[in-house]
Amino acid sequence: MTNIYRRSANHHLMRDINRALILNHLRLAAPQSRAELAERTGLTRSTVSSLVDELIADNLVHETGIAPSRGGRRGTLLALNPAGGCAIGVAITSDAITVLLTDFVAHPRWQRQMTLEDTDPTQVMGQVEALIDEALAYNAAHEGIPLLGIGLATPGLVRVRDGTLRTATNLGWRDIPFQARWEARYGVPVRVGNEASIAALGEHYFGAGAGFHDFVYLELSTRAIGAGIFVDGRLYQGVDGYAGEVGHMVIDPAGAMCSCGRRGCWEAVLRQVADLTPLREALAAGTPSSLGDPARLTRAAVLTAAAAGDALARDYVQRVLDVLVTGLANLVNVFNPQRVVLGGSLGLSLGPFLPTMQSALTAQVTLPAESVPDLVLAQIATNPSALGAVALVLDEIMSEPVPVVSRQSWP
Ligand SMILES: [Zn+2]
Repeated sequence: MTNIYRRSANHHLMRDINRALILNHLRLAAPQSRAELAERTGLTRSTVSSLVDELIADNLVHETGIAPSRGGRRGTLLALNPAGGCAIGVAITSDAITVLLTDFVAHPRWQRQMTLEDTDPTQVMGQVEALIDEALAYNAAHEGIPLLGIGLATPGLVRVRDGTLRTATNLGWRDIPFQARWEARYGVPVRVGNEASIAALGEHYFGAGAGFHDFVYLELSTRAIGAGIFVDGRLYQGVDGYAGEVGHMVIDPAGAMCSCGRRGCWEAVLRQVADLTPLREALAAGTPSSLGDPARLTRAAVLTAAAAGDALARDYVQRVLDVLVTGLANLVNVFNPQRVVLGGSLGLSLGPFLPTMQSALTAQVTLPAESVPDLVLAQIATNPSALGAVALVLDEIMSEPVPVVSRQSWP
């Protein structure tokens, strides 16, 4: 590599980083003048001006008005241009498919959800692609905004570098090259990730993780536990993209059998304590409780009764919380996050119990009390993975590119 080439590579990299920096600042706060952008990004005013001209020419930024006078010449205000590009976010879960089309500021333009009738991969692929085609047809018939990319959130283990779903045990899928297939079919960049990681990215962009560089997002249901872990402002994916499989962290080697073949995985133990059968039996045996008919018992009703003080329901909830906090304490000890965001159907129902969990967590972690992260609920309650998949597309454009040049080759 010649010195000149190296300089020019670095120059392009710097320009890409600075473009992303400006876009991201405008995403977080708009409108802003060029002078404000220079102040907040630390870039020179001339760098900001030339990059903004470029972004306006690319249609990604537009002028929205005149800034109030700051003593000198009044500057024009800038914001992201919603019509600068659109993104498609796709979320596949074990029972539904969601396809969401948004503009450049992530406002939904079109959305559709379908129940998954069959988990046969060919059939699901057909269903998903038909929905994407519908979204594209809608866009073409309306604003006709250029498509920036497609993001996909799927259950299972995703090899991130080539966007291949390696395995999804609950769907029975293996080796599906989503990225290669859709890049060939749609001619735009396609990014794929595991649903919990992608929901975490969505919370980072639009929800409870905004402004937090180090946080853990947990997707909790009584069937599975997934996580997205942010370290230094980036989703931690591991070398192949499989990081975050916290549900298979063993918390009791003699515990319940897990679907992965081992004993006592966090999600297996949770599944066991969250089972309503013993509660139904206790009710049927005449244990006094406000819970009513054991045959019609729901988990939501148990949580409500526990929050209202029903002793039987409280015992059940306490066992569930104990298991959750045990795993959480392990994660907090390992990652020292600023915040833990609880999402998923179970996570979002834990609001009344957050103070109890918070003090149990403080008692269990080895960190100093002031470093115990706050537990909060996720803010994106509907379709977090579809919105996260949109963030995956935007993140390609707005997050600062990681230098790929090795350290030694820098001048
Ligand atoms: Zn397991």
